[in-house]
Amino acid sequence: MDHFLYRDGALFAEDVPVAEIAAKVGTPCYIYSAATLLRHYKLFDDALDGMDHLVCYAMKAASNQAILKLLGDAGAGMDVVSGGEYRRAKAAGVSADRIVFSGVGKTAEEIHTALTGGIRQFNVESEPEMHVISRVAQSLDVVAPITIRVNPDVDAKTHAKIATGKSENKFGIPISRAKEVYALAASLPNLKIVGIDVHIGSQLTDLEPFRLAYQKVAELTNDLRADGHEITRLDLGGGLGIPYTRSNEAPPLPTEYGAMVKETLGHLGCEIEIEPGRLIAGNAGIMLTKVIYVKEGEDRKFLILDGAMNDLIRPAMYEAHHDIVPVVEPAAGVEQMPYDIVGPVCESGDTFAKGRDLPEMAADDLVAFRSAGAYGAVMASEYNTRPLIPEVLVQGDQFAVVRPRPTFDEIVNRDTIPEWL
Ligand SMILES: *Cc1c(COP(=O)(O)O)cnc(C)c1O
Repeated sequence: MDHFLYRDGALFAEDVPVAEIAAKVGTPCYIYSAATLLRHYKLFDDALDGMDHLVCYAMKAASNQAILKLLGDAGAGMDVVSGGEYRRAKAAGVSADRIVFSGVGKTAEEIHTALTGGIRQFNVESEPEMHVISRVAQSLDVVAPITIRVNPDVDAKTHAKIATGKSENKFGIPISRAKEVYALAASLPNLKIVGIDVHIGSQLTDLEPFRLAYQKVAELTNDLRADGHEITRLDLGGGLGIPYTRSNEAPPLPTEYGAMVKETLGHLGCEIEIEPGRLIAGNAGIMLTKVIYVKEGEDRKFLILDGAMNDLIRPAMYEAHHDIVPVVEPAAGVEQMPYDIVGPVCESGDTFAKGRDLPEMAADDLVAFRSAGAYGAVMASEYNTRPLIPEVLVQGDQFAVVRPRPTFDEIVNRDTIPEWL
């Protein structure tokens, strides 16, 4: 459930008509619903009730500081994957002891930043990285808390570009070598082992791959404890999928996920961390666009929007489906017709949907992309020198621009031409 609903024939974001936002802010833009973000965070928090736990929002899904502050104030920690995200989380007021640092290529500089500013834990992905963390911690005379991300060799049954838990993926260390790598960690100076980390992929629509992975983590916990390691924390990653279509079968709910976590890992007495991104932000955001032209092709109609693949790359990159709806609610029984829905960017990949049924559309009509809150704005670029589109946060009947649209001067003046040219 989200808070983007038709009311009196028009699409609203909570209590604000989105057409009002379009008039004030312009299109295209992203609009987030605070109530939906909080609701999704709370679903996870409640699902793990009864276990010591922390929900660390995977901020790469949508990293605007207004979102981070909203979730951080509600009690969320953050999962960061770069020094930039670390700084952003801190700037939004999230305390260091609630920030976990994931990612396969942390640089010595990023590790230095996190050790200086404070960190809950590093999720270590390789032996070379472990050596660097140890060395940097030694140079700063601090102890770095770590988990080791294990790769359980489980098929997440999701899109190949977002599967991360198979042995051929670049992530984590093979679970078969875990004992050896934990022994190495215990032998290195200035490291403190606090637990185990696993993250098998994104947009999972079935609990079974999670269950298989977590069963392996439970076994490993016992093995490592038998070896004398203190395993007090289990970071279970993110990855629970969302419904991208209203007609589709719904993925498992956070409550079902939480019950499975308790069943597989509850007996171990560990603190549980989870890192949901998409499920918190995905259905909490829409991309609002406007029709520039309706173009009659030889055998089809093209709906040419002012939003494009540089603003929302998921359809081009992952063949992703987004429900695309008119802002003016279609009257019951109104005739629909198929459109190819495209942006203005100069490549055919800039196609959002083919043969999508909509009522008859005209220039200047507003159109919303649902489920665009996660991996939308964060993956946007200025391809074709199109400005990054603004982000708007709605709460109740209030809304605010939380990232303004840059001016063309700002974009053009960023380049410098060498004197010798
Ligand atoms: C991307 C990522 C997540 C979040 O995945 P979602 O599918 O958005 O929930 C969590 N943990 C790690 C390590 C990730 O890379």
